[in-house]
Amino acid sequence: MTEPLIYELSSPGRKGVSLPAVDVPETALPEGLMREELPLPEVAENDVVRHFMRLSQLNYSVDTGFYPLGSCTMKYNPKVNEDMARLPGFALTHPLQDPDTAQGNLAMMYALQDWLMEIGGFAGVSLQPAAGAHGEMTGILIIRAYHHDRGDKERNKILIPDSAHGTNPASTTMSGMEVIEIPSDARGNIDLDELKKHCDESVAGLMLTNPNTLGLFEEDVQEVIDLVHGCGGLIYGDGANMNALLGVVKPGDLGIDVLHYNLHKTFSTPHGGGGPGSGPVGVVEKLVDFLPDPVVGIVDEGDEAKPPLYGLITPEKSIGRVKAFHGHFGVILRAYTYMRMLGKSGLRAVSDYAVLNANYLLAKLRDTYKVPFDRICMHEFVAEGHWDDAPDIHALDIAKRLMDYGFHPPTNYFPLIVPEALMIEPTETESKESLDAFVEAMLAIAKEAREDPEILKSAPHKTLFGRMDEVQAARQLVLCCRPLYLDKPDNK
Ligand SMILES: *Cc1c(COP(=O)(O)O)cnc(C)c1O
Repeated sequence: MTEPLIYELSSPGRKGVSLPAVDVPETALPEGLMREELPLPEVAENDVVRHFMRLSQLNYSVDTGFYPLGSCTMKYNPKVNEDMARLPGFALTHPLQDPDTAQGNLAMMYALQDWLMEIGGFAGVSLQPAAGAHGEMTGILIIRAYHHDRGDKERNKILIPDSAHGTNPASTTMSGMEVIEIPSDARGNIDLDELKKHCDESVAGLMLTNPNTLGLFEEDVQEVIDLVHGCGGLIYGDGANMNALLGVVKPGDLGIDVLHYNLHKTFSTPHGGGGPGSGPVGVVEKLVDFLPDPVVGIVDEGDEAKPPLYGLITPEKSIGRVKAFHGHFGVILRAYTYMRMLGKSGLRAVSDYAVLNANYLLAKLRDTYKVPFDRICMHEFVAEGHWDDAPDIHALDIAKRLMDYGFHPPTNYFPLIVPEALMIEPTETESKESLDAFVEAMLAIAKEAREDPEILKSAPHKTLFGRMDEVQAARQLVLCCRPLYLDKPDNK
C-alpha cells in the first residue's frame, strides 16, 4: 500500500474526538472493563475517515460492478431498502418491548410471512433462521420432530444429491441425521435408479435443490418427490434458488414439505463476508405445529373500529427457539420493502429476467467454453474453465484474469461434480450492455489462454495485490490492522 497505515500516523496525545466537560462526579471504571494493553492508534478524525474510506475503495461490490458469483444471487440491492431499515420507528424498537407497543413491526413481519407462504405455496412460515444453512437445520429438525411425533423414531437418513450445496450435508449432520449421497445422471438430474435403491423406511427425507446447483430444473422432480413420499419420507426444498421460480412455480404445489428462502439472495439485502442474512422456513399444513417458537400471529381480529392486534405465538409442538428474539429484523424489513416495491408482477419479472439473462450468457459462451450439461438453464449455469489445447490453464486462472477486466469472478470449483467449474449467475439486474462486456472479456481470455497463457497464470495484474497464496491466507487469517502485524509477519 502506498498510503501510510493508520498505526504509522499515530502520534502520542493526538485525539480524534473531543468529549464534553464532565458534569457528574468522576468514578473509576469497574475492574476488567478497561483494556490498558489495547494498542489503539492515536490519530485525528480525518485520519480515521481516510483510513476506512481507502479500505472501502479496495473492495469490489455489486455497487461497483458486475458480480456473477453463481449460487450467491449478487443482485443489485435497491437503496430504498436501506431508507426503510433506518426509519426510527423500526430502527429504534427493542426486541424486549411489549408487543402491544411494537404493532407496526409485527404487522410487517406478519405480512412478510404471508407473502412467503403465497410465493412458496405453504401453510406457515417462520422468520427466525439467520441464514440459508440455519433454515436448513431448522427444516431438518422439523422433519425429525414430525417423524418422532408419529412414534416413527427409526427414520434417521436424509438423502442428498451429489450436486447439493455443501451446507446441506453439514446441517443434516448437525441435526443428528445421517447423510446418504445420491449421484446425478448424465443430464444433471437426480439418478432415479440410485434413488430407488435407498427409498425405504429408514428415510426421514430428501433435500432437493430445484433448480439444482447446475442451474438446471430437475426434470423428474415429480417422480423424485413421489418416490420419497412413497416410502414415508418428507421433502426438504433448498430454496436458495428461488430467484428462478418467483411467480412461476410454487414449491409447495410440487410436493415440497419444508423449504428455506434466502431473503439476502432472492429478496435483495446486501450479503457476502458472512452476513447478516435471513433464512425463513415455509412448511405445509401438517408441519405448521412444529415451527420454531415464536411466529407472528393475529391474537385479536379487531373490527371496523379497531385494527387487528398482532402477537407472538408458540406453535403447539414447536421444535423450540432457533434464534434469539425474532430473527434478523433489519434483513426481514429490507426484503419486505423489496417485495412491496416490486409487487406481484414485478416479482414474476425478476425470475423471467434472471432466467433470460443466464440463457443469454450461456448462448454467447457455449461455443467457447465447454458446458457439460448443456440445456436451457434457469438463473445460472456451469461452464468448464479448462481446454485440452491450453492444458496449463485452470478455472482459477480465468477467474483471476477476469479481475483485470473489471469483473468479479464467477464461483469456482463448485458444484464439485463439474471439474474446473465456473458457475455463472448474472441475476436480473444487469443490462444487456454489462452482459455483453462480460462476454467480451470471457472471449478475450479464452484467446489469451492459447496465445499468452502466462498472462492468465500470473493474473491479476491490475489489482493492488497480485495473485495470493490462498492456502497461507486461510491458515494465517489477518482480519484487522494491528501494529504487531507491521513488524511480525506471523501476527503473533
Ligand atoms: C447460498 C446457498 C445456501 C446457504 O445459504 P446461506 O445463507 O449462505 O447459509 C444453501 N444452498 C444453496 C443452493 C445456496 O446457494
